[in-house]
Amino acid sequence: MANFKTHMVVGATVSGISSTLLLSAGHLTDSEALLLFSLGTIGSLLPDIDSKTSIPFKITFTLLSVFLSFAIIFSKPEYSLIEKLILWLTSFYLLKLFIMRVFIEYTSHRGIFHSVPMGILLGILGTMLLKTLFWVDGSVAVWGGFFITLGYLTHLILDEVYSVDLANKRMKKSFGTAFSFHKKSNWFGTFIVYLAILILFKETNYTIVTDTIFSSNFYIDLYENILPQNGWFNGLFNI
Ligand SMILES: [Zn+2]
Repeated sequence: MANFKTHMVVGATVSGISSTLLLSAGHLTDSEALLLFSLGTIGSLLPDIDSKTSIPFKITFTLLSVFLSFAIIFSKPEYSLIEKLILWLTSFYLLKLFIMRVFIEYTSHRGIFHSVPMGILLGILGTMLLKTLFWVDGSVAVWGGFFITLGYLTHLILDEVYSVDLANKRMKKSFGTAFSFHKKSNWFGTFIVYLAILILFKETNYTIVTDTIFSSNFYIDLYENILPQNGWFNGLFNI
């Protein structure tokens, strides 16, 4: 199993490269790229959120609580400072005290939370949250959800990679438990997650993502951006 630091570094790198490619092909603004990069990195830390007593669990949950609470008050710029403070504190303690308790109570490590369908579901929920709660426009919200799923799946793949003992050319016991599509010990949970995906899937229009990834224009735009058009590092220090 990969550790917290490895997950964070690899997750941030994969999200960073992906958002750089979208930015270079002219599909994103710089602030949108930064948003997707952050969401992908957070997504790559989410699967181990069910490991309870571990320090990564506490760090991830606290980070997520801080991040979400700030995101909520950013979505209400018209509120006074004191209203923002009350909203922030309410959201933070609700997440940390209530949602964290629920997690500790009802999840087991590498349970349904550490699976492919959960990564897809959280991406859909992320898109819905970005669209309804925040200022994000439709297509960026879809990309946001996609990046959460991308980070999530990167984490699961990394855990599988770490379960292959390269030195001894054999599989560790944990092989196959990280990148899984269901949990034998939790059929009910697996069913609920797939049901939620089915119900909510129409809320997010993934053609925005597939139209980009599978279009030749995207790669032509990227290709044209490999070398500078107006001289090297033009305006690097123009502020
Ligand atoms: Zn993991």
